[in-house]
Amino acid sequence: MKDDFVTVATSQFAEQAESIRLLLSQEGIESFIADANLVNTNWFLGPAVGYIKVQVLQSQSEAAMAILLQHPLATGTPSGESETAPAKCLACGAPMAEDAEVCPACGWSFNGEAEPEPQENVE
Ligand SMILES: [Zn+2]
Repeated sequence: MKDDFVTVATSQFAEQAESIRLLLSQEGIESFIADANLVNTNWFLGPAVGYIKVQVLQSQSEAAMAILLQHPLATGTPSGESETAPAKCLACGAPMAEDAEVCPACGWSFNGEAEPEPQENVE
């Protein structure tokens, strides 16, 4: 049966790619390192171009990914950092704390329907 190779990790550093390969090896998963020359054929990967890829058999990719997720330090992957954009004000673009509801810079609120300060009873 045909079994394709899939990339489970990328790294700019050969040493790191090697450590990932060793990690997978320790878990009983065979992997190999595809160097930057091969990456050129995958130009559509954009940011991954120039990176060293660690590939495993497709049938083992899920297990490999699970292992890598348990070892974020080995892969050097910042957990979720690049996936979720930092919260920022949609009105002025100022950075906002994730749990902040009101922009500290301009007072804009994620709750678009937030009521303005009641002015009627000021008298
Ligand atoms: Zn703002």
